[in-house]
Amino acid sequence: MKTLFKNIKELIQVRTEPISFVSGKQMNVLPTIKNAFLLVENGVISNFGSMQDCPTITTDKIVDASGKLVLPSWCDSHTHLVYAGNREGEFVDRINGFTYEEIAARGGGILNSAKKLQETSEEELYQQSKVRLKDIIHSGTGAIEIKSGYGLTVEAELKMLRVIKRLKETFPIEIKATFLGAHAVPLKFKNNKKGYLQLLINDMMPKISEEKLAEFVDIFCETGYFTVEDTELILRAGIKNGLTPKIHVNQFTAIGGVKAGVKNGALSVDHLEVMRNEDIEVLKGTSTMPVALPSCSYFLSIPYTPARKMIDAGLPLALASDYNPGSSPSGNMNFVVATACIKMKMTPEEAINAATINGAYAMGLEKEVGSITVGKKANLLLTKPIPSYGFIPYAFGNPQIEKVYLKGL
Ligand SMILES: [Zn+2]
Repeated sequence: MKTLFKNIKELIQVRTEPISFVSGKQMNVLPTIKNAFLLVENGVISNFGSMQDCPTITTDKIVDASGKLVLPSWCDSHTHLVYAGNREGEFVDRINGFTYEEIAARGGGILNSAKKLQETSEEELYQQSKVRLKDIIHSGTGAIEIKSGYGLTVEAELKMLRVIKRLKETFPIEIKATFLGAHAVPLKFKNNKKGYLQLLINDMMPKISEEKLAEFVDIFCETGYFTVEDTELILRAGIKNGLTPKIHVNQFTAIGGVKAGVKNGALSVDHLEVMRNEDIEVLKGTSTMPVALPSCSYFLSIPYTPARKMIDAGLPLALASDYNPGSSPSGNMNFVVATACIKMKMTPEEAINAATINGAYAMGLEKEVGSITVGKKANLLLTKPIPSYGFIPYAFGNPQIEKVYLKGL
């Protein structure tokens, strides 16, 4: 199957030499080709360049992209897309002035999602999650990471991870799974956090490893949730079970979790709304990707990750949606890119790099997706006729994507 995209007004994020990620000043460089062609063979990018070099060959399909742009599809490296029900009730409670603590005391929060999920069958959970996955594919996401963490029992965590596995096997989008058993301490272990950590390590991890249900391990390292010591314990146990570390860290307080992540070779450290100078310093020159989640800051009205300070200090940055029922009930990466520009003062170039190649790296998919490179999967966005790529964040809230291609289809 050969598809030729021709007369592309501008082909965005072209990388002739493969790269892992971009950082610092390089984040502001977004290579493009104006008036370009792109050839896709059997789902893979096989050639691209200027229209004047467009080969005359027979193809199965020709897409005339006059006036339109082609980009690699969005890479969303942090989501909780598999969940049961929703928390719309808590949303209204917050509007009516109830605090997070009051809502939690009335049975809200992560434990609310956990209760619903435990009561939902695997089939029903799959059906609900499938709808959300189709939605985010439609809005331009071509690679996604999905976490467990609303189960909080052996059975319910495995149920979540099996649903993620089924989505992976059913849909053409790239999916990576993360075990986030350490998302919150369940009520049963309220006064026995150590006991719960032991359950994660001794009972859940070996099963996950045996069934190959996850690639990554994650923990919510935060005051009132899990300490730096707990984090190191879980990350090390994850590594022993073949899982690569990631962390939810520095969302409300900075307690040293970023350093613990770097020390244990975390692929990414996510949230980072609160960043001390020492947290920025410890990330410099490492292979750990910082990940910002602007939709969460928007929804909760909490500070945004200080992207300017971090990029100006030479760090890389990835952008993800944090799609979840409590703090970001949206997986729309167009909104994420726009919010990064509007609220975090990232340039369109920086935001697009952060939501493509850097997001791919944060999922270990930088060799598969995230740029227009020969050999990569043809997971692409074809825009409507628009003036430039800066128009995508500028015209926030208005869908600018005409068609999404996964593996060229
Ligand atoms: Zn999260």
